[in-house]
Amino acid sequence: MIVAPKIRGFICTTAHPDGCAKHVAEQIAVVRNRGPISNGPRKVLVIGSSTGYGLASRIAAAFGTGAATIGVFFEKSGDSEKCATAGWYNSAAFENEAAAAGIYARSFNGDAFSDEIKAEVIAAIKEDLGQVDCVIYSLASPRRTHPKTGETFRSVLKPIGQSYTNKNLNTNTGVVDEVTIMPAENNDVAETIAVMGGEDWEMWIDALLAENLLAPGVQTFAYSYIGPDLTWPIYKNGTIGKAKEDLERVQRALDEKLAPLSGKAWVSVNKALVTQASSAIPVVPLYISLLYKVMKEHGTHEDCIEQADRLFRDRYTDPQPDELGRIRLDDWEMDPKVQQPVIANWHNVNTENLAGLADIDGYQSSFLRLFGFGLEGVDYDADTDTAMKIPSIL
Ligand code: NAD
Repeated sequence: MIVAPKIRGFICTTAHPDGCAKHVAEQIAVVRNRGPISNGPRKVLVIGSSTGYGLASRIAAAFGTGAATIGVFFEKSGDSEKCATAGWYNSAAFENEAAAAGIYARSFNGDAFSDEIKAEVIAAIKEDLGQVDCVIYSLASPRRTHPKTGETFRSVLKPIGQSYTNKNLNTNTGVVDEVTIMPAENNDVAETIAVMGGEDWEMWIDALLAENLLAPGVQTFAYSYIGPDLTWPIYKNGTIGKAKEDLERVQRALDEKLAPLSGKAWVSVNKALVTQASSAIPVVPLYISLLYKVMKEHGTHEDCIEQADRLFRDRYTDPQPDELGRIRLDDWEMDPKVQQPVIANWHNVNTENLAGLADIDGYQSSFLRLFGFGLEGVDYDADTDTAMKIPSIL
C-alpha cells in the first residue's frame, strides 16, 4: 500500500511503516553516537513503550546500556489495506533493531491498566529475566477501566475553578486565535487523577514486589511536566496537574516500599515536546513552537531521545533532585535565558508574525515524524508493508 498522511485535528490517522522504522533508527543513532552508557539499568520494564517518552526510554536503555527490555503499549495492528498505529510500527522496528544487535526485547500489546496484562508481563519477567532493575512508567491515556471495580474513568484537560482564555495555535493552518476552556465539573478532577495519577504505577510496583521481581537497587520513574506559569491554568493547576501531584504522592509511598531493596522511585519532570499526547492539549502547541525556536537558537533543543538519553547517562547515578525530590530534565527549558524570550514572544505572537517568532515548521515536521512522515531516505511513493508484524507478538 502507498501511505500518505491523513490529519484529523491533532491526530494523524495513518502511519508509515518504513518512516516509523527510520524514526526509530535515527533515535538509536543519537544514543549510539554518544557512546555506551556506563552504570545504566540492565533489565528494564517500560510501560507505555511505543511512542514519545516511553519509546525513547526503551531505545536509550537498550542501545545506550545494552539493557534487555520488556515493553507494554496499547496499539492497533494493520493489514494489507489498513495502517497500524505508529506505535505498532515503532515497536516492530525497535524489536528488529534489537534483534540485529543481539539485545533481548519482548513486547505486550494490551491495556496496561488491566490485571491480565500485568499477569502476562509478570510471567514473562519470571520466564526470561528473573528480575528487572528499572521500571519506566510513561502512559498517556484518555481513559482507564479500573481493574478491581470495572468502572471506566475519563481524563480531561481543563482548568479548575474558572474558565481559562489564552492564545491558541491551529497547528494545521498556522492561525493564532484564542481559546476558552470551561472549568472542570462533576468528577472531572477525580477521574483525571484515576487515569493519569499514580494508582496504576503503584499497582504495577506492588504486583512486581509481591512476586519478588524487583532487583536490589531498583529504580522506577514516572514522567511529569510543570512548564511556565502561562500554561499553569490548563496544565500544572488544571485537572492534569492534579494527576501529576498524585504521582508525587505515590512516588513517596513507593520510596517506602522499595527501601528494603535500597530501591528508589522518582518523578522526572521532562521537557515539553511534540508527542501524540501533548498535541491534544490546548495552548501547549503554541508554547512548544515558541520554545523550539528559542531552544534551537540556544543550541539546547532536545527531543524525547536526547531527554531519555540524559536520564540514563547523567541522572541515573547522579539524579540531582530539586527541593521536592524530583528529577528535572526540564532544566534547559526552564532556564530564564530561554523562558524570557519565549514569554515575550508569547505576548507578541499573532498569525502574521508566527513564522518569525515560532518554529512552526519544526512543530509540523516533528508532528508528522511521529507518524513516520517526512523522514529522509524514505520512498513515500513506494509500496510499503502495512501488515508488518511485531516479532514477539507474532
Ligand atoms: P505518548 O502519547 O507518545 O505515549 C503514550 C504511551 O502510552 C504509548 O506507548 C501508548 O501506547 C501507551 N498507552 C496509552 N494507553 C495505554 C494503555 N491503556 N495500556 C498500555 N499502554 C497505553 O505520550 P508522551 O507524551 O510520551 O507521554 C508519556 C508521559 O510523559 C506522560 O505521563 C506525559 O504526561 C509525560 N510527559 C510528556 C511531555 C510532553 O511534552 N509530551 C512532557 C513531560 C512529561
